[in-house]
Amino acid sequence: MTDLPAKPVKKPKRVLPERFVPYKGVWVFIEHEHGHVHPVSWELLGKGRELADKLGVDLAGVLIGAPDPKINALIDDAAAYGADLCYLMQDQVLHDYRNQPYTAAITTLVNTYQPEILLLGATTQGRDLAGSVATTRLTGLTADCTGLEIDLSDRSLLSSRPTFGGSLMCTIVNLATRPQMATVRPRVMPMPTRDPSRKCRVIEHPLELAEDKIVTKVTSFIPDSKADKPQLAFADYIVAGGRGMAKPENFDLLFNLAKTLGAEIGASRPAVHAGWADNERQVGQSGKTVRPKLYIAAGISGAVQHRVGMEGADVIAAINVDANAPIFQFSNYALIGNALEILPALQTAFARRLARTRARLAAESATNGKENA
Ligand code: FAD
Repeated sequence: MTDLPAKPVKKPKRVLPERFVPYKGVWVFIEHEHGHVHPVSWELLGKGRELADKLGVDLAGVLIGAPDPKINALIDDAAAYGADLCYLMQDQVLHDYRNQPYTAAITTLVNTYQPEILLLGATTQGRDLAGSVATTRLTGLTADCTGLEIDLSDRSLLSSRPTFGGSLMCTIVNLATRPQMATVRPRVMPMPTRDPSRKCRVIEHPLELAEDKIVTKVTSFIPDSKADKPQLAFADYIVAGGRGMAKPENFDLLFNLAKTLGAEIGASRPAVHAGWADNERQVGQSGKTVRPKLYIAAGISGAVQHRVGMEGADVIAAINVDANAPIFQFSNYALIGNALEILPALQTAFARRLARTRARLAAESATNGKENA
Protein backbone atom coordinates (compact mmCIF):
# COMPACT_ATOMS: atom_id res chain seq x y z
CA MET A 1 0.00 0.00 0.00
CA THR A 2 1.21 3.51 -0.75
CA ASP A 3 -0.16 6.98 -0.01
CA LEU A 4 1.13 8.37 -3.31
CA PRO A 5 -1.64 9.89 -5.43
CA ALA A 6 -2.57 7.85 -8.50
CA LYS A 7 -0.88 9.01 -11.70
CA PRO A 8 -3.29 10.71 -14.11
CA VAL A 9 -4.08 8.38 -17.01
CA LYS A 10 -2.85 9.87 -20.29
CA LYS A 11 -5.46 9.51 -23.00
CA PRO A 12 -3.85 8.68 -26.37
CA LYS A 13 -4.39 11.56 -28.82
CA ARG A 14 -6.72 10.45 -31.58
CA VAL A 15 -5.90 11.13 -35.23
CA LEU A 16 -8.03 10.67 -38.32
CA PRO A 17 -7.37 7.21 -39.81
CA GLU A 18 -6.19 7.29 -43.45
CA ARG A 19 -9.27 5.35 -44.65
CA PHE A 20 -11.61 8.13 -43.46
CA VAL A 21 -9.80 10.92 -45.35
CA PRO A 22 -12.03 10.68 -48.47
CA TYR A 23 -15.19 11.23 -46.34
CA LYS A 24 -16.08 14.94 -46.43
CA GLY A 25 -19.13 17.02 -45.67
CA VAL A 26 -22.08 17.21 -43.30
CA TRP A 27 -25.42 16.02 -44.69
CA VAL A 28 -28.96 16.56 -43.46
CA PHE A 29 -31.84 14.42 -44.72
CA ILE A 30 -34.69 16.78 -45.62
CA GLU A 31 -37.88 14.98 -44.72
CA HIS A 32 -40.83 16.05 -46.82
CA GLU A 33 -44.17 14.53 -47.58
CA HIS A 34 -46.85 15.84 -49.95
CA GLY A 35 -45.10 19.20 -50.21
CA HIS A 36 -44.63 19.71 -46.46
CA VAL A 37 -41.15 19.68 -44.99
CA HIS A 38 -40.82 18.49 -41.41
CA PRO A 39 -39.39 21.52 -39.51
CA VAL A 40 -36.81 19.28 -37.77
CA SER A 41 -34.98 19.25 -41.13
CA TRP A 42 -34.43 23.02 -40.94
CA GLU A 43 -33.44 22.76 -37.26
CA LEU A 44 -30.83 20.17 -38.27
CA LEU A 45 -29.54 22.38 -41.07
CA GLY A 46 -28.94 25.05 -38.41
CA LYS A 47 -26.89 22.64 -36.27
CA GLY A 48 -25.29 21.11 -39.39
CA ARG A 49 -24.09 24.59 -40.44
CA GLU A 50 -22.21 24.94 -37.13
CA LEU A 51 -20.63 21.47 -37.49
CA ALA A 52 -19.68 22.03 -41.16
CA ASP A 53 -18.07 25.40 -40.34
CA LYS A 54 -16.00 23.78 -37.58
CA LEU A 55 -14.87 21.05 -39.97
CA GLY A 56 -14.34 23.49 -42.87
CA VAL A 57 -16.60 21.51 -45.22
CA ASP A 58 -19.86 21.97 -47.13
CA LEU A 59 -23.28 21.46 -45.57
CA ALA A 60 -25.60 19.51 -47.85
CA GLY A 61 -29.33 18.86 -47.82
CA VAL A 62 -30.47 15.48 -49.14
CA LEU A 63 -33.76 15.71 -51.04
CA ILE A 64 -35.37 12.61 -52.43
CA GLY A 65 -38.83 12.06 -53.89
CA ALA A 66 -40.86 11.71 -57.09
CA PRO A 67 -40.09 14.15 -59.95
CA ASP A 68 -41.90 17.36 -59.02
CA PRO A 69 -41.29 20.98 -60.13
CA LYS A 70 -42.11 22.09 -56.54
CA ILE A 71 -38.78 20.57 -55.47
CA ASN A 72 -37.09 23.86 -56.52
CA ALA A 73 -38.89 25.67 -53.69
CA LEU A 74 -37.49 23.12 -51.21
CA ILE A 75 -33.97 23.59 -52.61
CA ASP A 76 -34.35 27.38 -52.11
CA ASP A 77 -35.55 26.75 -48.54
CA ALA A 78 -32.60 24.44 -47.83
CA ALA A 79 -30.21 27.17 -49.07
CA ALA A 80 -32.00 29.80 -46.97
CA TYR A 81 -31.53 27.63 -43.86
CA GLY A 82 -27.80 27.18 -44.50
CA ALA A 83 -27.15 24.44 -47.11
CA ASP A 84 -24.25 24.97 -49.55
CA LEU A 85 -25.57 22.27 -51.85
CA CYS A 86 -28.40 19.77 -52.24
CA TYR A 87 -28.14 16.18 -53.38
CA LEU A 88 -31.27 15.52 -55.37
CA MET A 89 -32.64 12.12 -56.30
CA GLN A 90 -35.97 12.05 -58.12
CA ASP A 91 -37.71 8.87 -59.21
CA GLN A 92 -41.32 7.72 -59.35
CA VAL A 93 -40.54 4.85 -56.93
CA LEU A 94 -39.76 7.51 -54.31
CA HIS A 95 -43.26 9.03 -54.50
CA ASP A 96 -44.36 7.87 -51.04
CA TYR A 97 -42.07 6.95 -48.17
CA ARG A 98 -41.15 3.26 -48.24
CA ASN A 99 -38.17 1.94 -46.35
CA GLN A 100 -36.65 -0.09 -49.17
CA PRO A 101 -36.38 2.53 -51.96
CA TYR A 102 -35.51 5.35 -49.55
CA THR A 103 -32.76 3.24 -47.96
CA ALA A 104 -31.47 2.38 -51.45
CA ALA A 105 -31.54 6.08 -52.42
CA ILE A 106 -29.64 7.34 -49.37
CA THR A 107 -27.18 4.43 -49.44
CA THR A 108 -26.43 5.08 -53.14
CA LEU A 109 -25.76 8.77 -52.42
CA VAL A 110 -23.60 7.94 -49.38
CA ASN A 111 -21.58 5.33 -51.33
CA THR A 112 -21.05 7.78 -54.20
CA TYR A 113 -20.32 11.08 -52.41
CA GLN A 114 -19.02 9.85 -49.01
CA PRO A 115 -20.20 12.30 -46.33
CA GLU A 116 -18.48 12.20 -42.95
CA ILE A 117 -21.70 13.01 -41.03
CA LEU A 118 -25.35 12.23 -41.82
CA LEU A 119 -28.12 13.69 -39.64
CA LEU A 120 -31.83 12.80 -39.68
CA GLY A 121 -34.82 13.91 -37.59
CA ALA A 122 -35.91 11.44 -34.91
CA THR A 123 -39.39 11.34 -36.47
CA THR A 124 -41.26 8.14 -37.36
CA GLN A 125 -39.79 8.29 -40.87
CA GLY A 126 -36.33 9.45 -39.79
CA ARG A 127 -35.95 6.71 -37.16
CA ASP A 128 -37.05 4.02 -39.61
CA LEU A 129 -34.74 5.27 -42.36
CA ALA A 130 -31.70 6.00 -40.17
CA GLY A 131 -31.74 2.47 -38.72
CA SER A 132 -31.86 0.77 -42.09
CA VAL A 133 -29.27 3.04 -43.74
CA ALA A 134 -26.88 2.46 -40.80
CA THR A 135 -27.47 -1.30 -41.01
CA THR A 136 -26.97 -1.38 -44.78
CA ARG A 137 -23.78 0.70 -44.54
CA LEU A 138 -22.63 -1.16 -41.38
CA THR A 139 -21.97 2.15 -39.67
CA GLY A 140 -22.76 3.55 -36.21
CA LEU A 141 -25.90 5.49 -35.41
CA THR A 142 -26.66 7.45 -32.23
CA ALA A 143 -30.41 7.88 -31.78
CA ASP A 144 -32.27 10.74 -30.07
CA CYS A 145 -29.26 13.00 -29.52
CA THR A 146 -29.64 16.15 -27.47
CA GLY A 147 -26.23 17.61 -28.33
CA LEU A 148 -23.81 17.38 -31.28
CA GLU A 149 -20.23 18.68 -31.25
CA ILE A 150 -17.00 18.08 -33.15
CA ASP A 151 -13.64 16.82 -31.84
CA LEU A 152 -11.27 18.45 -34.29
CA SER A 153 -8.34 16.15 -33.39
CA ASP A 154 -9.84 13.35 -35.52
CA ARG A 155 -12.97 15.08 -36.90
CA SER A 156 -15.20 12.87 -34.72
CA LEU A 157 -18.85 13.67 -34.14
CA LEU A 158 -19.53 13.77 -30.39
CA SER A 159 -23.17 12.75 -29.99
CA SER A 160 -24.67 13.33 -26.53
CA ARG A 161 -27.89 11.78 -25.27
CA PRO A 162 -29.51 10.74 -21.99
CA THR A 163 -28.88 7.16 -20.89
CA PHE A 164 -29.74 4.79 -18.00
CA GLY A 165 -33.37 5.92 -18.01
CA GLY A 166 -32.30 9.55 -18.31
CA SER A 167 -30.28 9.61 -15.09
CA LEU A 168 -26.93 10.08 -16.91
CA MET A 169 -25.78 11.90 -20.04
CA CYS A 170 -23.35 10.04 -22.29
CA THR A 171 -21.31 11.09 -25.31
CA ILE A 172 -20.97 8.53 -28.05
CA VAL A 173 -18.14 8.61 -30.60
CA ASN A 174 -17.94 6.38 -33.66
CA LEU A 175 -14.23 5.74 -34.22
CA ALA A 176 -14.60 2.75 -36.53
CA THR A 177 -16.82 3.62 -39.48
CA ARG A 178 -18.13 6.41 -41.70
CA PRO A 179 -20.46 8.17 -42.12
CA GLN A 180 -21.15 9.06 -38.50
CA MET A 181 -24.94 9.03 -38.17
CA ALA A 182 -27.24 10.64 -35.61
CA THR A 183 -30.94 11.35 -35.19
CA VAL A 184 -32.25 14.34 -33.25
CA ARG A 185 -35.81 14.88 -32.04
CA PRO A 186 -37.87 17.86 -33.26
CA ARG A 187 -37.37 21.05 -31.21
CA VAL A 188 -34.13 19.89 -29.55
CA MET A 189 -32.10 22.22 -31.82
CA PRO A 190 -33.21 25.84 -32.30
CA MET A 191 -34.67 26.91 -35.64
CA PRO A 192 -31.98 28.80 -37.60
CA THR A 193 -32.64 32.26 -39.04
CA ARG A 194 -33.75 32.13 -42.67
CA ASP A 195 -31.59 34.00 -45.17
CA PRO A 196 -33.52 34.03 -48.49
CA SER A 197 -30.55 35.63 -50.28
CA ARG A 198 -28.49 32.40 -49.90
CA LYS A 199 -28.28 30.09 -52.93
CA CYS A 200 -27.00 26.52 -53.17
CA ARG A 201 -25.58 24.15 -55.80
CA VAL A 202 -27.53 21.07 -56.83
CA ILE A 203 -26.10 17.64 -57.64
CA GLU A 204 -28.63 15.29 -59.24
CA HIS A 205 -28.10 11.56 -59.06
CA PRO A 206 -30.25 8.77 -60.55
CA LEU A 207 -31.70 5.85 -58.60
CA GLU A 208 -31.50 2.57 -60.43
CA LEU A 209 -34.31 0.63 -58.80
CA ALA A 210 -37.33 -0.74 -60.68
CA GLU A 211 -40.77 -0.82 -59.03
CA ASP A 212 -41.00 -4.62 -59.49
CA LYS A 213 -37.95 -5.04 -57.22
CA ILE A 214 -39.73 -3.30 -54.31
CA VAL A 215 -41.67 -5.59 -52.01
CA THR A 216 -44.01 -3.02 -50.40
CA LYS A 217 -46.72 -1.21 -52.38
CA VAL A 218 -48.65 1.94 -51.46
CA THR A 219 -52.32 1.35 -52.27
CA SER A 220 -53.68 4.65 -50.91
CA PHE A 221 -52.66 7.64 -48.83
CA ILE A 222 -54.75 8.34 -45.71
CA PRO A 223 -53.78 11.68 -44.13
CA ASP A 224 -53.11 11.62 -40.39
CA SER A 225 -56.37 12.58 -38.70
CA LYS A 226 -54.34 14.36 -36.02
CA ALA A 227 -52.37 16.43 -38.55
CA ASP A 228 -54.68 19.44 -38.20
CA LYS A 229 -54.60 19.35 -34.39
CA PRO A 230 -52.31 21.87 -32.71
CA GLN A 231 -48.87 20.33 -32.32
CA LEU A 232 -47.50 20.52 -28.78
CA ALA A 233 -43.90 20.39 -30.01
CA PHE A 234 -44.40 23.64 -31.94
CA ALA A 235 -46.54 25.57 -29.42
CA ASP A 236 -45.25 28.98 -28.27
CA TYR A 237 -47.01 28.78 -24.90
CA ILE A 238 -47.55 25.66 -22.80
CA VAL A 239 -49.31 25.20 -19.47
CA ALA A 240 -48.37 21.80 -18.05
CA GLY A 241 -49.57 19.85 -15.05
CA GLY A 242 -48.14 17.00 -13.02
CA ARG A 243 -49.05 14.64 -10.20
CA GLY A 244 -49.33 17.66 -7.86
CA MET A 245 -52.60 18.59 -9.62
CA ALA A 246 -54.00 15.66 -7.60
CA LYS A 247 -57.18 14.88 -9.59
CA PRO A 248 -58.52 15.17 -13.13
CA GLU A 249 -60.99 17.99 -12.34
CA ASN A 250 -58.05 20.17 -11.28
CA PHE A 251 -56.73 19.96 -14.83
CA ASP A 252 -59.62 22.33 -15.71
CA LEU A 253 -57.58 25.08 -14.01
CA LEU A 254 -54.80 24.43 -16.52
CA PHE A 255 -57.28 24.45 -19.43
CA ASN A 256 -58.72 27.80 -18.23
CA LEU A 257 -55.31 29.44 -18.03
CA ALA A 258 -54.28 27.90 -21.37
CA LYS A 259 -57.43 29.32 -23.00
CA THR A 260 -56.64 32.81 -21.72
CA LEU A 261 -53.05 32.61 -22.97
CA GLY A 262 -53.80 30.78 -26.24
CA ALA A 263 -51.53 28.04 -24.90
CA GLU A 264 -51.32 24.27 -25.34
CA ILE A 265 -51.69 21.80 -22.46
CA GLY A 266 -48.73 19.63 -21.48
CA ALA A 267 -48.41 16.95 -18.80
CA SER A 268 -45.87 14.89 -16.90
CA ARG A 269 -45.86 11.12 -17.29
CA PRO A 270 -47.75 10.35 -14.04
CA ALA A 271 -50.50 12.81 -15.10
CA VAL A 272 -50.79 11.02 -18.46
CA HIS A 273 -50.73 7.59 -16.81
CA ALA A 274 -53.52 8.73 -14.45
CA GLY A 275 -55.59 9.58 -17.54
CA TRP A 276 -55.72 13.34 -16.78
CA ALA A 277 -54.25 14.19 -20.20
CA ASP A 278 -53.83 12.40 -23.56
CA ASN A 279 -50.63 10.55 -24.38
CA GLU A 280 -49.75 13.09 -27.06
CA ARG A 281 -49.50 15.77 -24.35
CA GLN A 282 -46.71 14.07 -22.39
CA VAL A 283 -43.54 16.16 -22.21
CA GLY A 284 -40.19 14.53 -21.56
CA GLN A 285 -37.86 11.74 -22.43
CA SER A 286 -40.59 9.31 -23.46
CA GLY A 287 -42.94 12.08 -24.63
CA LYS A 288 -42.51 15.28 -26.66
CA THR A 289 -39.60 17.70 -26.67
CA VAL A 290 -40.94 21.25 -26.62
CA ARG A 291 -39.31 24.66 -27.06
CA PRO A 292 -42.02 27.25 -26.27
CA LYS A 293 -41.52 30.92 -25.38
CA LEU A 294 -43.23 30.23 -22.03
CA TYR A 295 -43.63 26.93 -20.12
CA ILE A 296 -45.75 27.04 -16.98
CA ALA A 297 -45.26 23.87 -14.92
CA ALA A 298 -47.82 23.27 -12.15
CA GLY A 299 -47.34 20.45 -9.62
CA ILE A 300 -44.37 19.03 -11.53
CA SER A 301 -41.27 18.13 -9.52
CA GLY A 302 -38.76 18.55 -12.37
CA ALA A 303 -37.39 15.00 -12.66
CA VAL A 304 -34.63 14.73 -15.26
CA GLN A 305 -36.90 12.70 -17.59
CA HIS A 306 -39.35 15.63 -17.65
CA ARG A 307 -36.62 18.27 -17.75
CA VAL A 308 -34.98 16.95 -20.96
CA GLY A 309 -38.26 17.58 -22.77
CA MET A 310 -38.81 21.21 -21.74
CA GLU A 311 -35.56 22.85 -20.65
CA GLY A 312 -35.23 24.46 -24.11
CA ALA A 313 -38.16 26.79 -23.27
CA ASP A 314 -37.23 30.51 -23.31
CA VAL A 315 -38.95 31.12 -19.96
CA ILE A 316 -39.97 28.51 -17.37
CA ALA A 317 -42.38 29.43 -14.56
CA ALA A 318 -42.81 26.67 -11.99
CA ILE A 319 -45.57 26.41 -9.38
CA ASN A 320 -44.83 24.01 -6.53
CA VAL A 321 -45.66 23.75 -2.82
CA ASP A 322 -42.17 22.44 -2.10
CA ALA A 323 -39.53 25.20 -2.12
CA ASN A 324 -36.87 22.51 -2.61
CA ALA A 325 -38.47 20.93 -5.68
CA PRO A 326 -35.77 20.27 -8.33
CA ILE A 327 -37.72 22.26 -10.94
CA PHE A 328 -36.82 25.49 -9.12
CA GLN A 329 -33.15 24.83 -9.93
CA PHE A 330 -33.75 25.49 -13.64
CA SER A 331 -36.85 27.69 -13.76
CA ASN A 332 -36.82 31.45 -14.35
CA TYR A 333 -39.79 32.12 -12.04
CA ALA A 334 -40.45 30.18 -8.83
CA LEU A 335 -44.05 30.42 -7.59
CA ILE A 336 -43.94 28.61 -4.25
CA GLY A 337 -47.45 27.67 -3.22
CA ASN A 338 -50.56 25.69 -3.99
CA ALA A 339 -51.17 25.39 -7.76
CA LEU A 340 -54.91 25.14 -7.13
CA GLU A 341 -54.84 28.73 -5.80
CA ILE A 342 -52.06 30.18 -7.97
CA LEU A 343 -53.44 29.02 -11.34
CA PRO A 344 -56.78 30.92 -11.05
CA ALA A 345 -54.91 33.98 -9.75
CA LEU A 346 -52.56 33.86 -12.75
CA GLN A 347 -55.49 33.48 -15.11
CA THR A 348 -57.20 36.57 -13.70
CA ALA A 349 -53.98 38.59 -13.85
CA PHE A 350 -53.21 37.53 -17.45
CA ALA A 351 -56.81 38.14 -18.57
CA ARG A 352 -56.73 41.70 -17.12
CA ARG A 353 -53.36 42.42 -18.65
CA LEU A 354 -54.39 41.08 -22.07
CA ALA A 355 -57.67 43.05 -21.99
CA ARG A 356 -55.71 46.27 -21.24
CA THR A 357 -53.26 45.55 -24.09
CA ARG A 358 -56.10 44.81 -26.54
CA ALA A 359 -57.90 48.02 -25.53
CA ARG A 360 -54.70 50.05 -26.02
CA LEU A 361 -54.05 48.49 -29.46
CA ALA A 362 -57.66 49.13 -30.52
CA ALA A 363 -57.37 52.78 -29.41
CA GLU A 364 -54.05 53.17 -31.30
CA SER A 365 -55.47 51.67 -34.46
CA ALA A 366 -58.58 53.94 -34.25
CA THR A 367 -56.31 57.01 -33.88
CA ASN A 368 -54.13 55.90 -36.83
CA GLY A 369 -57.30 55.34 -38.89
CA LYS A 370 -58.50 58.92 -38.20
CA GLU A 371 -55.06 60.38 -39.03
CA ASN A 372 -54.91 58.48 -42.33
CA ALA A 373 -58.51 59.42 -43.32
P1 FAD B 1 -43.94 14.04 -8.82
O1 FAD B 1 -42.49 13.78 -9.00
O2 FAD B 1 -44.68 13.18 -7.89
O3 FAD B 1 -44.07 15.57 -8.41
C1 FAD B 1 -45.27 16.16 -8.02
C2 FAD B 1 -44.90 17.57 -7.54
O4 FAD B 1 -46.08 18.27 -7.25
C3 FAD B 1 -44.05 17.57 -6.28
O5 FAD B 1 -42.89 18.35 -6.50
C4 FAD B 1 -44.96 18.24 -5.24
O6 FAD B 1 -44.24 19.05 -4.32
C5 FAD B 1 -45.85 19.07 -6.11
N1 FAD B 1 -47.17 19.38 -5.53
C6 FAD B 1 -47.98 18.55 -4.82
N2 FAD B 1 -49.14 19.19 -4.55
C7 FAD B 1 -49.06 20.42 -5.09
C8 FAD B 1 -49.92 21.54 -5.16
N3 FAD B 1 -51.16 21.52 -4.64
N4 FAD B 1 -49.49 22.66 -5.79
C9 FAD B 1 -48.25 22.72 -6.34
N5 FAD B 1 -47.39 21.70 -6.31
C10 FAD B 1 -47.79 20.56 -5.71
N6 FAD B 1 -41.72 11.80 -16.71
C11 FAD B 1 -42.21 12.77 -17.53
O7 FAD B 1 -42.79 13.75 -17.06
N7 FAD B 1 -42.04 12.66 -18.89
C12 FAD B 1 -41.40 11.62 -19.48
O8 FAD B 1 -41.31 11.57 -20.71
C13 FAD B 1 -40.88 10.60 -18.63
N8 FAD B 1 -40.20 9.55 -19.15
C14 FAD B 1 -39.65 8.62 -18.30
C15 FAD B 1 -38.89 7.61 -18.85
C16 FAD B 1 -38.31 6.67 -18.01
C17 FAD B 1 -37.49 5.57 -18.61
C18 FAD B 1 -38.50 6.76 -16.61
C19 FAD B 1 -37.85 5.78 -15.70
C20 FAD B 1 -39.26 7.77 -16.08
C21 FAD B 1 -39.85 8.72 -16.91
N9 FAD B 1 -40.63 9.75 -16.38
C22 FAD B 1 -41.08 10.72 -17.23
C23 FAD B 1 -41.01 9.81 -14.95
C24 FAD B 1 -40.12 10.74 -14.14
O9 FAD B 1 -39.02 10.02 -13.64
C25 FAD B 1 -40.89 11.32 -12.95
O10 FAD B 1 -41.41 10.27 -12.18
C26 FAD B 1 -42.06 12.23 -13.36
O11 FAD B 1 -41.60 13.23 -14.25
C27 FAD B 1 -42.64 12.88 -12.11
O12 FAD B 1 -43.83 13.51 -12.48
P2 FAD B 1 -44.44 14.69 -11.59
O13 FAD B 1 -43.43 15.78 -11.47
O14 FAD B 1 -45.78 15.01 -12.16
O15 FAD B 1 -44.72 13.95 -10.20
